[in-house]
Amino acid sequence: MTKKDQLYEGKAKKVFTTDNPEVLIVDYKDDATAFNGEKKGTILGKGVINNRVTNHLMKLLAKEGIPTHYVEELSERETAVKKVTIVPLEVIVRNIIAGSLAKRVGRPEGEKLAKTVLEYCYKDDALGDPIVNDYHILAMGWATREEIDLIADYSFKINDILTAYLKEVNIELIDFKLEFGKTSDGTIVLADEISPDTCRFWDSTTGEKLDKDRFRRSLGGEEEAYREILKRLLGE
Ligand code: ADP
Ligand code: UDP
Repeated sequence: MTKKDQLYEGKAKKVFTTDNPEVLIVDYKDDATAFNGEKKGTILGKGVINNRVTNHLMKLLAKEGIPTHYVEELSERETAVKKVTIVPLEVIVRNIIAGSLAKRVGRPEGEKLAKTVLEYCYKDDALGDPIVNDYHILAMGWATREEIDLIADYSFKINDILTAYLKEVNIELIDFKLEFGKTSDGTIVLADEISPDTCRFWDSTTGEKLDKDRFRRSLGGEEEAYREILKRLLGE
């Protein structure tokens, strides 16, 4: 499978068409951004790690019955995926209070939530991905009632699968972001990526941050943290 035209260049990945109209190739970059693109940098080797980690987790989820866009890993940084129309929502799943939720509700990071929290943000960089609810989603026509229910159902199931899996390698899944899309036949599938860029991973023993917060908060050691995740998940 080979790349044809570049369809899109995002902050972390490039997306290309292929000879198959149903299949795209995503190419993961080392570029890192935070605060809606305000902070820019590079995390050496990040693209390779995010590609491998995403594919590893997508395959695990597929085995557990979650439909995904994953088709085939083509190289260190490139993966063939099913072309989907992205539902314009960032679905955020939270087990422990951190990041923007800590600010929003004035509670300390690290506090366990009594119940898993699901949030939706409207995917629009110019607007800063504002938080929205089911009423907004239905009123704006971003998804139907059935689609929202399915997305929520998949998101909780993904949380259960990943939480249990990560626990085995001494990682606590604090929160993460998912994107879903619709294939040409209307099926909702998990798309985009699941990586240290899109999840908060804390070492279960020490609480050390093993994710993009090292970059966001200028903590240093981001390359080592991403490599540690690769090592714990894939043994490499
Ligand atoms: P951003 O657009 O936020 O800067 P990326 O750099 O990760 O993000 O770009 C990847 C883009 O590709 C995202 O907009 C994402 O929604 C989109 N995407 C992910 N998976 C698919 C897919 N299977 N089909 C079509 N688009 C996809
Ligand atoms: N997240 C993401 N992309 C975004 C916003 C958030 O992948 O555009 C992830 C982030 O890595 C974290 C979770 O979603 O795991 C919750 O992020 P939060 O709302 O706390 O925002 P942040 O503190 O990152 O601004």
